Amino acid sequence: MPALLYKIVVGLEVHVQLLTQTKLFCGCRTDFGLPPNTATCPVCLGLPGALPVMNRRAYELALRAALALNCTVARFTKWDRKNYYYPDLPKNFQISQYDLPMSHDGWLEINVAADPRKGYEPKRVGIIRAHLEEDAGKSIHDESGRGGETRVDLNRTGTPLLEIVSQPEMNSPEEAVAFLQELRLMLRELGVSDCEMQEGSLRCDANVNVHIPADGSFIATPLVEVKNLNSIRGVERAIAYEAQRQFQAFNDSSDADNYRKKFGEVPKATAGWLDEKGVTRVQRRKEEASDYRYFPEPDLVPVQVDDAWLERVRRETGELPSAQRHRLPAQYGLSVYDANVLVEQGRAAVAYFEEVAALCGDAKAASNWLTNQVLATLNERKQSIADFPLRPAALAGLIGQMKLKGLNNQRARDVYAKMLDTGGSAEQAIADLGIKDIGDDELRDIVRRVLATNSKAVADYRGGKLKAADSLKGQVMKETKGMARMDVVARMLTEELSNGAA
Ligand SMILES: [Zn+2]
Repeated sequence: MPALLYKIVVGLEVHVQLLTQTKLFCGCRTDFGLPPNTATCPVCLGLPGALPVMNRRAYELALRAALALNCTVARFTKWDRKNYYYPDLPKNFQISQYDLPMSHDGWLEINVAADPRKGYEPKRVGIIRAHLEEDAGKSIHDESGRGGETRVDLNRTGTPLLEIVSQPEMNSPEEAVAFLQELRLMLRELGVSDCEMQEGSLRCDANVNVHIPADGSFIATPLVEVKNLNSIRGVERAIAYEAQRQFQAFNDSSDADNYRKKFGEVPKATAGWLDEKGVTRVQRRKEEASDYRYFPEPDLVPVQVDDAWLERVRRETGELPSAQRHRLPAQYGLSVYDANVLVEQGRAAVAYFEEVAALCGDAKAASNWLTNQVLATLNERKQSIADFPLRPAALAGLIGQMKLKGLNNQRARDVYAKMLDTGGSAEQAIADLGIKDIGDDELRDIVRRVLATNSKAVADYRGGKLKAADSLKGQVMKETKGMARMDVVARMLTEELSNGAA
């Protein structure tokens, strides 16, 4: 293996909008796509004399996320003003949390297996803190290039945001992607956020630098924060590009600003990501926290979280996707692949699977049906499992009939399609399709005929190649058009072969 040129080090700052109906400190609606400036009031417009009141629901959703991120929840927390010139936040300060965030010191388990679908290799990425703050509005710039005006939409101003700051513990673009995907799945399943990146309800900044091996140790390059990444693919590309750019700048003697510059020698910089060009562009050296002149928000009381509140939120939180990834293979003997597919469909799909498995007593069959047939149907119909017309009892009934009647896969798929059409039970669909049990006498005739016309396989079997029975069984099932029970066919074949009747 060639020597490692550099090691990528990434920490992510993720902002997610919480799924509340109203804003963090006023009663304005938070729906996406309302006409500009229609969801505003004196509080979120920052008019003199208007006073904020905390949205308790937002705090509960933040608590849910904090618990799921294994964070220590602060029992006492307060609000702070972060002062800045904000064209789209008319108060000119953002209500945030500075020195007493609502939660801190947690972790998120991500999958870093080379093929994340087939393997599960957990890695814990530390969470420094998760805190609540209000979102700013949106500036809509004229992009015609003719220097037109910029418009401001204040509907988003005051929307509750949870800021989640990870430790710089991801070491590749792929790990950053795994982090975002797991976080998104978890927050969606918990009802904390819909995490729609293209609508801006999940936004991500990446703090990137590289460690370059030197004299048995390493040199860290100065930190760059790549801002406002709005797709997972963008995050992946931006990190890969920025790491390579830093490595080259470090080694480029014609670049006096960056050549041989180490972490700490120059302040942290921010950079934009130009998705179409596929490059990052360093914009400015970053403000220090002191530049924001943080001070406690005098218009809001501190928040105190008691045991009862925390316990109630903990109960509502339920099982996390990472826990399901461990439990499903252990409890049901599913492959890692099948478990991952189910978990990534969400809690409702996992619950559906568990109900089918319990009813039919065959977890493997339940998982096969779900991960193949049912998911394909849901994709085709753009439906969610909650709207899927076949309830768990119906699918369990089909799996039961398959065994009872020895239906082969093709037959079973026909029955499934019929059930979807008519909404009836498996028995009804089998009757509708005219699938009948084949009589024992008729079946024995077929078995004898197959043995008579496959003398090579029969000779092989008698010569000790027991596998030859499989092809004979297949022939019989084909002759019966899948209407015979597999176990009966197997029994008759064994009888006939040992009779020497062929
Ligand atoms: Zn408002």
